[in-house]
Amino acid sequence: MGQPTPSRGLYIATFGCQMNVYDSDRMAGLLAPLGFELVDDPEHAELILINTCSVRRSAEHKVYSYLGQLKELKGRRGRLLIGLGGCLAQQEGQRLLDQVPHLDLVFGTGVIHRLPELIAEAAAGRRRALTELDGPAAAAPLPIPPRPGIKAHLTVMRGCDNFCAYCVVPHTRGREHSRPADEVAAEAAALCAAGVREITLLGQNVNSYADPGGGDFADLLARLADTPGLWRLRFVTSHPKDLSDRLVEAMASQERVMEQIHLPAQSGSDRVLKAMNRRYSRRQYLDKVSRLRRRVEGLALGGDIIVGFPGETPQDFQATMSLLETVRYDYLFSFKYSDRPFTRAAKMNGKLSEDIKARRLAELQARQREISLETHRGLVGRVLEVLVEGPAKHGQGLVAGRSRCGRMVNFTGGPDLIGRVVRVRITEGRVNSLVGRLNQEEVQRHDTNDR
Ligand code: SF4
Repeated sequence: MGQPTPSRGLYIATFGCQMNVYDSDRMAGLLAPLGFELVDDPEHAELILINTCSVRRSAEHKVYSYLGQLKELKGRRGRLLIGLGGCLAQQEGQRLLDQVPHLDLVFGTGVIHRLPELIAEAAAGRRRALTELDGPAAAAPLPIPPRPGIKAHLTVMRGCDNFCAYCVVPHTRGREHSRPADEVAAEAAALCAAGVREITLLGQNVNSYADPGGGDFADLLARLADTPGLWRLRFVTSHPKDLSDRLVEAMASQERVMEQIHLPAQSGSDRVLKAMNRRYSRRQYLDKVSRLRRRVEGLALGGDIIVGFPGETPQDFQATMSLLETVRYDYLFSFKYSDRPFTRAAKMNGKLSEDIKARRLAELQARQREISLETHRGLVGRVLEVLVEGPAKHGQGLVAGRSRCGRMVNFTGGPDLIGRVVRVRITEGRVNSLVGRLNQEEVQRHDTNDR
C-alpha cells in the first residue's frame, strides 16, 4: 500500500552536511503547524524544498542538476511551489531566482524561521529571495520535527571564524554564534522525551562552542550527558586547534559520550597547512591524535583530506600519505580541491590540473580503503554494543546499527531489535562496515535504565 497523500505534501531534498539535515528537520517542524506533512515522493508534494550545499563545486553541480529535473514536474503541476535554501541560496540569492524561472522562493541559511511568510508570498505569486545572515533568526529556536526517530541532530553553534583559505562556509554561514547551553539542554530534553536516544551535536567548529553564559564545549557535553532518556552523545566537526585537554578528558570520563571523533587534518604538509590557514602544524595534529588515543579507549578517528590544494607539490602530497600511515584513520572523507567563491585560495597561483588531482585522490583513497579493511578485520571476534537503527540496506532478515565508535554493523535479526542496544560479536570486517552475530546476552541496561 502506498503512502496516503496528505492535504499539504512537503518534500525536502537535502544535500551536503549534517547541519543541512538538521535544518531540514527543523523546516519540517516549522511547517507542520501549517498542515505540511513530509512525503517521500516529490510527485505527492505541494511544496518542494531543496536544502543545498556549496562547499565543493561538485556539490553545487548536483543541486543544479536536481533543480533541472524538477522543471518538468513544475510544468505539469502548476500549483507546485519549489523553494531553495542552504549555502547555495545564501551565496547566490536573487541571481538564482533570475536564472531559474521555475523556482518560487530562495532562502538563506539564517532565515529559515521566515519560511512560512515566504511560502505564503510565493503562493500568492510573489517570488522572493531572502538571504540576510543575522536577523532575529537566532532569537527563537525552531521546533523539533514531529517524529524525530531514534537518532537526531542538534545544532549547538553556527558559523565559523576561521577562514580556512579554501572554505566558503564563513561566507555562507556567517561568523561563529553559540546557542545558550540552557536552550541546547531544553532541546535535547525535548528530543529525548519524543523518543530520541542518540544525539549528534553539530557545529561547523563544534569544539569552539562557548556558552554566552560561560562554559565551554566540555562543560556542555557533561551537562547534556545527564539528559533523561539519552543513551548516546556524539559531536561533529572538531577543529584540531580547538581540541582542548578538557574535551579529551570529558570524552574519556563520560560514559554516554561515544568513542568517536571527526578531526579533519586536510593535509599532512606543514607548508600546505600554513597556506590553508589551518593554524596547527603536522606535529601538533599528531600530538592531539596520540593524546586522544591514549585517553579514549576504543576511539574511532575520522578525518578530511583535500588533495591538490594550489601549489601542492609531490613532496607535500607524500607528506599527506605519510600522515595517513601514521594516523591510520578509521574513516576518511577525501576530496579534490576546487575553487570556491570569495575564498583566498581561489585567487592563489599554482593551481593543479584535474588529472593530477584525480590521480592523487585515487592513490589516497586506495590506501585508505586498505587501512579501513585492515582495521575492520582486526575487530573480528570482538563484541560491540550496537544501537539497532533499522533493516539493513542489503540482505534479507538483516538489521543494521552503529557501534559506540560509529561503525556500521549488519547482523541477522528482526524488527523487534530496532531501537535497542544489543551486543554483537563481529564475524567479518569489510571496508565500510562490519558483519556480526547477535550475542545471546543482550544489553538490557539501556532499555531498563532510562534515567
Ligand atoms: S574551520 Fe575552516 S574548513 Fe571548517 S568551516 Fe571553518 S573555515 Fe571552513
